[in-house]
Amino acid sequence: MTKKDHLYSELLDACGKSGCPVCHLSLAFTRDYLERTMYEGVNDPGVRAALREARGYCNPHAWLLTEGHGVVLGTAIIQRDILETVVGITDIAPRGRPVRRHAAEILERLQPAGRCPACVHQRQFEDRAIHTLLKYLGDEQLATTLEETSGLCLAHFSRALELVEDSDQLKGLQRFQQEALQGLCEELTELIRKHDYRYADEGFHEEGDSWLRATGIVSGERGIR
Ligand SMILES: [Zn+2]
Ligand SMILES: [Zn+2]
Repeated sequence: MTKKDHLYSELLDACGKSGCPVCHLSLAFTRDYLERTMYEGVNDPGVRAALREARGYCNPHAWLLTEGHGVVLGTAIIQRDILETVVGITDIAPRGRPVRRHAAEILERLQPAGRCPACVHQRQFEDRAIHTLLKYLGDEQLATTLEETSGLCLAHFSRALELVEDSDQLKGLQRFQQEALQGLCEELTELIRKHDYRYADEGFHEEGDSWLRATGIVSGERGIR
């Protein structure tokens, strides 16, 4: 099985979950990436240097890492590395300068010189997933599976528009996304209607969690950025 086929089947699985399928794939990839880094990358000088320069992982990725398995030792090693770096670079004497100038130099040295490595890998992975989605939009199995979703989140829809390669892909993307968002809007309308006391005894059905799905589609799934 090729890499692309592998992502294709992962994409099909992700469509079975509630919310943006690219977000779900991306979160699973990033969890795995972070765990693997703690196992295999902790003693890699390049990985350590990138983390020192970025001043550690960004907030969502740092906390996602803490939810991983067997990550305590690796996390302790990389965080100590970053903290020792910070202690070293911020330990500078005032040398007679005014307090603001002294503080500004410490601040400048503290600034990250690189991006969160997990963000970099996550974006690269998302592009591969979106390329796969675009390539197979005309595939009947994927198209049918996508119809069951609430669409792509706005960030991944935007990225798909940037990566689209031909008119068939754009047509397929637009059709799928328009139908998904319209369906979601209808569910929200139904949810809103049922909040009227006159219809309160009707009870909620599939539209019951549409407000949460809409939150994921508008702002991305929880923890994605
Ligand atoms: Zn998404
Ligand atoms: Zn990050």
